[in-house]
Amino acid sequence: MSVELDFKRESPKRQGNIWEQDQLRAKKEAWSIGYNFHASDSPFILSEVQVDLSKHAFFEGKNVPLSEAKINIATHGFLYGTAVFSGMRAYWNEEAKRLFVFRPYDHFHRLLNSARMMAMNIPYDEAGLIQLTLDLLRTDNWQEDIYLRPTIYKADMGIGVRLHDLKDEFSMFVMAFEKYVKNDANAHLTFSSWRRIDDNVIPARGKVAGAYANSALIKTDANRAGFDEAIVLDSNGHVSEGSAMNIFMMRDGVLVTPPSTDNILEGITRRSVMELARNELGLEVVERSIDRTEVFIAEELFMTGTAAQIVAATRVDYRPIGSGVMGPVTTKLRALFDDVVRAKLPKYKDWNLEV
Ligand code: PMP
Repeated sequence: MSVELDFKRESPKRQGNIWEQDQLRAKKEAWSIGYNFHASDSPFILSEVQVDLSKHAFFEGKNVPLSEAKINIATHGFLYGTAVFSGMRAYWNEEAKRLFVFRPYDHFHRLLNSARMMAMNIPYDEAGLIQLTLDLLRTDNWQEDIYLRPTIYKADMGIGVRLHDLKDEFSMFVMAFEKYVKNDANAHLTFSSWRRIDDNVIPARGKVAGAYANSALIKTDANRAGFDEAIVLDSNGHVSEGSAMNIFMMRDGVLVTPPSTDNILEGITRRSVMELARNELGLEVVERSIDRTEVFIAEELFMTGTAAQIVAATRVDYRPIGSGVMGPVTTKLRALFDDVVRAKLPKYKDWNLEV
């Protein structure tokens, strides 16, 4: 099969929609024969979100334009992946005309725990980091849904792989953010051939930058094979999670998710969804190991994460899940979650930090 590979040669504008449709078809064909496109060419993912360099970031102790927040190529965190991070979101409530950060205390608590595992120390506690966040968000007066990326990294320059006797820095940048998974109401998943990192390899419950090479392999191979996302098994063969999201299934009317001892990241969205399912939907929620084949016979399946939010999975390796469309529990949880993150449910207002 011959496929025209250099799509960028002609302007899409000149040939309008027909060109675009052809391009997509050719790309899909090329994907099906395994041609290696740049990720942004994938018809299966969106996440084409760019940072705005004129916005501010917290870097080396102060807020600076993101364009000035630069590290040297000899920095330890860059050379060895010795950094820990979190991904937080803040949501714009259009009626209230207010921005709300979702569960910042929990995010910073997990971040500081990750830092502890990686022998890192910064001069801020959760309250101090929340104050930095408020200052940063107020600097740019954000009025839309955004994503925040706080990072603690080994900031010394030079060679020598270790954790001790190195200086640590905290940084944070902000960017506008909408969807992470394009097909978030009908995602098609596959089982990854990669295994989830084991807690005895790199702390699985820590959010360690270097460990995301594992997530990147998982995501890219799934997307290149035509899937939206992958389910990853741990080294014991149990379902752990996705590339950067936790997983839930409805089985016999019970909501089931892997326990925190099955090499998952202890997700804050996961914790929130468990609470909403119990309190608002009256569901029984069970944390237990999940076998691969249980997924195929689940009534519903969804994934959760700060970036992904709640993604309904309706097919796994070409097998329809339940009726093959988003089920009632997933539908209700998605609606509830969207209200909760925008501070529309007073009962959960402790989860929303008003900026
Ligand atoms: N697992 C992994 C590996 C992740 O990177 C993420 C995203 N932080 C999650 C799960 C979901 O965690 P959270 O809900 O806290 O974003």
